[in-house]
Amino acid sequence: MVQRISWPALTEQAIRAWLADDDVWRRGDAYRRAGRVRLPRRSAHGLRAVVYGQAVAPYRVWIRIDAQGIQRAQCTCPVGRDGRCKHVAAVLSLWLHQPGAFLPLPDWAHRLRDWPAERLRAFAVQVLTRCPEAEAWLLAHEGKDERWEETNE
Ligand SMILES: [Zn+2]
Repeated sequence: MVQRISWPALTEQAIRAWLADDDVWRRGDAYRRAGRVRLPRRSAHGLRAVVYGQAVAPYRVWIRIDAQGIQRAQCTCPVGRDGRCKHVAAVLSLWLHQPGAFLPLPDWAHRLRDWPAERLRAFAVQVLTRCPEAEAWLLAHEGKDERWEETNE
């Protein structure tokens, strides 16, 4: 099941106005041209990708978009908490220049529906072992932290 996109076309002007920093836009655009944006995905709620910056591990970016335009964004980089960093700009730049690169985010609830509990548990342990961020999400979920809600889409 592929979710339909119902947001308006984002223009460069709208993206730059949202970022509110032309330097961030230019640096993000350079990241996009350098091929630093990987695994671009889209859903009915927005965009997701990983962006390779200076660190070895890539930063993860989520951008929430609705009919009114960009609502908010998150990035795992040290300056990305308010979502207006060059990594978010790089993802938005890729959406502007190459929207076809964004594959639809699979409907995981549907795809995992028939997995037996044992297999799901084994997979969860693999993810928790390899991805430190997943551990943070799990802990946040246990504590019913709001961040889980924001990233689980
Ligand atoms: Zn960032």
